[in-house]
Amino acid sequence: MKIASCRSCSEPVVWAEFASGKKCPFDAEPTPSGEWALNEAYDPPKATRIVRAAGSGEDGFTSHFATCPEAATHRRPR
Ligand SMILES: [Zn+2]
Repeated sequence: MKIASCRSCSEPVVWAEFASGKKCPFDAEPTPSGEWALNEAYDPPKATRIVRAAGSGEDGFTSHFATCPEAATHRRPR
């Protein structure tokens, strides 16, 4: 998976694509609270929302829009 840097805060991010075709940066490190799975069989990876049983221990990715301290500057299309 290609790691990029957020242009705003320089954190490592991974660009992935929703089913709608919209691209979004995700935090590069999956966490237990992450809600998205990235299918690396595609380029860019396809993001799908994880449906999992509570306590499964599975990690997921989090949209960088949710964690970026500079999220407001992301709003314009690239
Ligand atoms: Zn950022």
